[in-house]
Amino acid sequence: MPVYRFQCTDCGPFEARYSMADVPDSASCTCGASARRGVSSPALGRGGSAMALLDSTRSTAETPAVVDRVPAGSRRGTPVSANPLHATLPRP
Ligand SMILES: [Zn+2]
Repeated sequence: MPVYRFQCTDCGPFEARYSMADVPDSASCTCGASARRGVSSPALGRGGSAMALLDSTRSTAETPAVVDRVPAGSRRGTPVSANPLHATLPRP
């Protein structure tokens, strides 16, 4: 169901969910006053983890995180092989 925005003259804006067929022109606010339905942009991409992931990916492309040193402990990776004979091989 879409979210509609209503404007109370005393309390300010609030949002309420109605089906598109049943949306009223005014709704009652929590203070009891009648609030008129306002015009707002559609809430595309609001919420949803997929949209949050897309937004964060887009932001890293524009402003990537820059580090000035290698993170501590990152030089020791996971061992490639568990065979102890591979430890005796020459290292670069
Ligand atoms: Zn109100």
